Amino acid sequence: MKLQDVINDLEKRYPHQPEFIQAVKEVAITISSVYDSHPDYSRCNIFERLTEPDRTISFRINWEDDQGNIQVNRGWRVQFSNAIGPYKGGLRFHPTVNESVLKFLGFEQIFKNALTGLPMGGGKGGSDFDPKGKSDSEIRRFCYAFIRELYKYIGKDMDVPAGDIGVGGREVSYMFAMYKNLTHEYSGVLTGKGVGFGGSLIRTEATGYGAVYFLENMLGVHKDNLTNKRVLVSGAGNVSLHAAEKAASLDAIVLTVSDSKGTLYDAKGFDQEKIDWLKKQKEQRKPLEEYVAVFGGEWLAGQKPWQFEADVALPCATQNEVDIAEAKQMHENGVKYIVEGANMPLTAEAIDYVREKNIHYAPGKAANAGGVAVSGLEMSQNSVRQYRSFEDLDLQLHRIIKDIHDSAMRAALACQPEDAPCIDYMTGANIVGFSRVADALVAYGILN
Ligand code: GLU
Repeated sequence: MKLQDVINDLEKRYPHQPEFIQAVKEVAITISSVYDSHPDYSRCNIFERLTEPDRTISFRINWEDDQGNIQVNRGWRVQFSNAIGPYKGGLRFHPTVNESVLKFLGFEQIFKNALTGLPMGGGKGGSDFDPKGKSDSEIRRFCYAFIRELYKYIGKDMDVPAGDIGVGGREVSYMFAMYKNLTHEYSGVLTGKGVGFGGSLIRTEATGYGAVYFLENMLGVHKDNLTNKRVLVSGAGNVSLHAAEKAASLDAIVLTVSDSKGTLYDAKGFDQEKIDWLKKQKEQRKPLEEYVAVFGGEWLAGQKPWQFEADVALPCATQNEVDIAEAKQMHENGVKYIVEGANMPLTAEAIDYVREKNIHYAPGKAANAGGVAVSGLEMSQNSVRQYRSFEDLDLQLHRIIKDIHDSAMRAALACQPEDAPCIDYMTGANIVGFSRVADALVAYGILN
């Protein structure tokens, strides 16, 4: 089937899955030349096969709140493709979670994981459970109930979940404990575990650090670096704060972080002491706003960070957080580099706009692959029952991100005009990730 026919079909079949269709279209547009030049891809109908998950498991979660009432939530695991390794990808707990969001995330994850060069397939899961305002006991009961259902479908060589929005070390630990309890098996079935019981050093930092390493590689192409670059970060979760921390350590001036309530701006930049304070504040689920009383700066209620002049934007919050009006704002404010720490934070229109304006742009599936890459390293440490040092893993993370950058760049340069002002990382990353998975499927014949 032709790429466009696959999209038409998906639009008809899944009209209520806009995020998924958006992610598929982005890949289709950028791989069309490769698809056309590989007759095996259309003969084996690779694109149609890769846009339908191997399976989606959906289930109900009953859990008891602190008042003794039984609450009900919905849960899913989208096992998208295990062509090049066990299904791998995070679990998201957020009220916006539905099948469309998880299918888009799972689809992206296939190519992101392939880009790391590690043997991991793509999957994603989660629940529409809202962790906000829940007590620790409620979170624990929910995690136990969630994994009591999901444990039947995952395994260290089958499907290895991890964290995502709303799921961090605490939640992974609860789920790991319940899995161990139910199966009598101590294995690397989840990544992002505590470092004392199978978790990997630098896993917590890896997504944010990796995004900044990717940016360093992009700047390096232009013989530039992060020193004194003004950086806008959105979000105040794990990815955002570690991206801010790494950028600040490389002498960038990080001006903003944000959350659903507003934006925190500090013209002097966030240094390590301020970032440590922010981490603690978020850990205790206290408002960002309180920063102003301690360190100064400004709290902009209900606003996003893109109104400030800067050189770099790191959207690290969530999908479609930057629309075309906000992309314009970035351009007017002098932003030259946009690196996606979140998954698909720019809308399709915003991406078209920034590419048209020759802003250097790195898509999430390349730039935020550091997290899942270290998850891959956690899996291998668990398999050989060994721990590796922080320095060793950081070096490996640097190498993996550089490989992703360089392979995406090479693929982009091979198909874009010689005088193009920017490297088309989006096309390059999609071509590399897609080809690795497609070639495996061709080699398998008809099976997944
Ligand atoms: N949720 C992260 C991502 O979007 C990490 C997934 C993992 O470590 O498996 O890539």
